[in-house]
Amino acid sequence: MIDGFTYSALPMRVVFGAGSLAELPAEVSALGLSRVLVLCGPRQEDTAKQIASSLGDRAVGILPEATMHVPAATAARAVALATSLGADGCVAVGGGSSIGLGKAVAKELGLPVVAVPTTYAGSEMTPVWGLTSDGVKRTGRDPRVLPVSVVYDPALTVSMPASLSVTSGFNAIAHAVEGLYAPDASPIVSLMAAEGARSLVSALPGVVADGSDMTARTAASYGAWLCGAVLGATTMSLHHKLCHALGGTLGLPHAETHTVVLPHVLAFNAPFAPAAVTALSRAFDTSDPARYLWDLADSLNAPGSLCELGMSFADIGEIADAVVATPYANPRPVTRDIVASLLRAAWEGALT
Ligand code: NAD
Repeated sequence: MIDGFTYSALPMRVVFGAGSLAELPAEVSALGLSRVLVLCGPRQEDTAKQIASSLGDRAVGILPEATMHVPAATAARAVALATSLGADGCVAVGGGSSIGLGKAVAKELGLPVVAVPTTYAGSEMTPVWGLTSDGVKRTGRDPRVLPVSVVYDPALTVSMPASLSVTSGFNAIAHAVEGLYAPDASPIVSLMAAEGARSLVSALPGVVADGSDMTARTAASYGAWLCGAVLGATTMSLHHKLCHALGGTLGLPHAETHTVVLPHVLAFNAPFAPAAVTALSRAFDTSDPARYLWDLADSLNAPGSLCELGMSFADIGEIADAVVATPYANPRPVTRDIVASLLRAAWEGALT
């Protein structure tokens, strides 16, 4: 049965496929940009140089300083550099950290961002920005930060080690899972979520077996695109709230934390999210999607517990407090005790 819904399409343009980085100069031309600042993390500097060289004198600088959670000081440096260079747009190449830096510039200066994602995190498909100062990460939605064009070249993901490929893939699947039971879910977003999650779970074993398998890499990037679009279109629930608190408060690594926490939250929410369970069961060809994700992560040697990620057992109470401090949507009612017990299970690495 289809309930009433509201669906607002985001104005996204996607250029997809192995080798599509060659299309980037045409994308920049189509946008009328002539003074582009290329933003990346330290590890993407070679790709950034390649991009700058393909743009010729339309690239006016490279800032290889993107780091996790967009520190306000880094954002301020990027804004100052874009201003001093007279930049009229940014190309952000890398994972969520690089794209987050591009969003910070867009938020401040209104410059268009062309995103070239190299992980599966999905930030390129969302109007959500994040900025961290004094250890506190603020996030918000602003249509100006949504990249105007996204070039998905799966060849750029080949350099991701197997471990990051798996955890980044699970990060994307988490967007799909929570999009399926979101308060603002809609039929078209649910189709994207189920297809995105399906494509990723079927691709990840191939990616791990052979990181340069372009068929598997392309299927994984395709899934990441769809899951990112779901993240951009819906409101996330308990899982993202938990991961945000664990990353923001304790500095736990983003993709790995998503991977550990997801099966626990899905198992908890499943009895209150029957349509999501049906969609995921069909997508994964299983009767128990939470157990399926747990077993898949285990078979791909992903981290299995928050303890393994360096969280101290004593921190559970602080995170539980943070997660219930402000209300948010979740299909199943949440109390502090429930959050603490989910965290204990995730800390131990035991799926009940
Ligand atoms: P990341 O961008 O920090 O990348 C993780 C590490 O992998 C970095 O060291 C990076 O240099 C490296 N890396 C990236 N691509 C690589 C490649 N192809 N080969 C080898 N190494 C590579 O991590 P992420 O998981 O992509 O993004 C996480 C960040 O993005 C977090 O800060 C998160 O909050 C944010 N995020 C934001 C949104 C949003 O909508 N605003 C969505 C998802 C994630």
